[in-house]
Formats: sequence, structure tokens, C-alpha cells
Amino acid sequence: MSTAFFFVFLEGNFLPILKTPIDISLLYNGILEGNLSLLSKAITLVESSHPTHRQQASELIDCILPHTGNSIRIGFSGVPGVGKSTLMESLGLHVLSQGKKIAVLAIDPSSHSHKGSILGDKTRMEELAKHPNAFIRPTPSSGILGGVAFATYETVLLCEAFGFDTIFIETVGVGQSETQVSSLTDVFVLLTVPHTGDELQGIKRGIMELAHILFINKIEQDETHSRHAIDAKTDLVRASQLLPKTVEFWTIPVLMGSALSGFGMEILWKTIEQFIEEKKLHGVFFEQREQQRMHRFYGILHHLLVEKIQRTLSQNKELQEVLSRVKNEDISPLSAGNLLLNKIRF
Ligand code: GDP
Repeated sequence: MSTAFFFVFLEGNFLPILKTPIDISLLYNGILEGNLSLLSKAITLVESSHPTHRQQASELIDCILPHTGNSIRIGFSGVPGVGKSTLMESLGLHVLSQGKKIAVLAIDPSSHSHKGSILGDKTRMEELAKHPNAFIRPTPSSGILGGVAFATYETVLLCEAFGFDTIFIETVGVGQSETQVSSLTDVFVLLTVPHTGDELQGIKRGIMELAHILFINKIEQDETHSRHAIDAKTDLVRASQLLPKTVEFWTIPVLMGSALSGFGMEILWKTIEQFIEEKKLHGVFFEQREQQRMHRFYGILHHLLVEKIQRTLSQNKELQEVLSRVKNEDISPLSAGNLLLNKIRF
């Protein structure tokens, strides 16, 4: 069977769009052999909502499953402009210098006001993008939980099977997407910048609660003893101490540095590694991965059920009648929900 794609240009990358059923063994072999273009196509396949593609995506994921799980999955969050992409590039280059291979699942910043993939006008992480051991996959951020694509979990698995041992996932700091990302990652890094006044402005408490490491960006080496740096650190330490402890053995470190110059990247990476090590020592690393698999399973089940119900509703006049009765207050949403559930065959 031939594999047909056409391409869309997004954030400096040509992303494949699928046209016809795909040759799964071609993708499987390509991924294990380190073919980046086929990895990219495989990701497009798992992102597709076409029923045939979905079936094929399941087959592909089942095939690659024995080759997955061997990476550190790291989430990065922070408000736009805080320096996420600069930091992922800077930290990424540091990690690459240690002989590692990195996949970055990054948000396409230009797609907020558009639907789906669009032309990116801002190229981020240029140096990383050029590195032979790095792969950057932009995610159109519109419509899907503030930037986490529906298939990010499966994308991580594909990247692991390919041989990436370090996975960066970026979110935009809006709340819902962070919860999503923390259910996909082993460690969650929250970036902030020193401001005058309220340091925690713009950071939602819910996001703070998810963080394992806090990093104050845009502080150069010669500024670490400056008033604004010390105040920022004091405020964050105080705020983090007030949060409920999500990981019993870990006190959230507040680091500072500069993504632009690279200052602080070494300590940030060491801290990430230390956290992973401690998770393993305390027996929670694999336990959490297991919980994440179950979380993804229920997420998929929920998604598929909702899709099936919506499809059935749109094709069935009798059921649509029930919807009209809800709108007109002839029947309560509660009764209508129960009625529909009884009528739909699964
Ligand atoms: P993002 O929206 O969070 O991904 O932020 P970007 O990485 O795009 O950075 C936003 C702006 O902040 C850019 O102009 C960067 O050059 C700048 N920036 C990022 N990190 C630093 C830093 O450590 N120091 C300084 N001075 N500027 C930085």
C-alpha cells in the first residue's frame, strides 16, 4: 500500500497531513531505524481523528509499546514571554552536550487565534532545531486545552520508541493544560520572572501546586544578589512553603538563572535529574507512570464515548427531539441525560 501525505508549513516545519490509509510497518520500521520524517508522519497519524487512521494509530502504538518508557518526561510552564522556548533551547543544548537525544513538543505561539495548523511566522529554538539529536514538534495550541494536543501521550511514546531519552513538553500557563501536562510528565518546571511588586502575579495557585521545581528566569550571574532577585526568590520560597506537599520527600527548590545566557542551566538539569532519582528511590516513579497510563485510558474512553454519543445524537431524530425538550424546559437535563443513555446502544 502506498503512503500518501501532503504537507502544511507550521513554525518553520513542514508537517505531514495524511491522505490515505498508511503502511504501518513502514512507519514502525522507520521509527526504530531513526527516520525523522517517518516519526513525524506517525505523529500526524496518531493526531488524526479519521476512524481508519485511529485504528491504524492503535496498531502502531501497540507495536512500538515494548520500545517505550525509557525517557525522562519534563513539563515546562509559565506565562507567555517568561522565556520558555529560550529556556528549552538553552537547557536542551546543555543536555545534548551530555550525549542525550531530545524531543520537544512545543506549542505553536502563532496559532491562538486560528483553528488547526497554520503558517508559523516565528521560528523558535533555532539552534536546537538544527541539532541532529533534537526533534521539535510544534503543536497548534488553539482549541485543545490551551496547547496540549489530544495525542500528546501517544506522541511521547512514539518519540521514546525512536530513541529520544529526554522529552520536553511546553504549556502556556493557563491552568487546564498544566493539569494535562503534569499527567504526562515525570517532573514539572514552572518558570517565572522577577517583577517589581507582586512576584506571583499571573501565576495561578493551581499551577504552583503542580510544580516540582521553580525557576526564576532572566537573572544573570552578576544579578543573583540584587534586590529584585532576592525579593523574587524570597516571595517564591514563601509561597511554595504555603502549598500542600504533593511529593512527600521533596522540598520545591527555587532556582534562578538566565535562559538567554545559559546561566543556571547546569543546576536546573542537575535538579531535574536529582528529582527523578529520588522518585525512583522512593518507589514513586513507576507507580506514577502506571497512574498516568490509567489516566490516559480513562481520558480516551471518555473522549470516545462522548464522540459516539454526539454522532448517535446527530443521526437520530428521536434523540434530537429529547434535546429540544431540554432547551424548552419540558424535561430536566438530568432526566434527558438518563433517557439518552438508556436509548444509546454501546
Ligand atoms: P515564551 O513565550 O515563554 O516561550 O518566551 P520566549 O522564550 O519567547 O522569550 C520571550 C522574550 O524573553 C524573548 O525576547 C527572549 O529573548 C527573552 N528572554 C528569554 N529568556 C531570557 C533571559 O534569561 N534574559 C533576558 N534578558 N531575556 C530573556
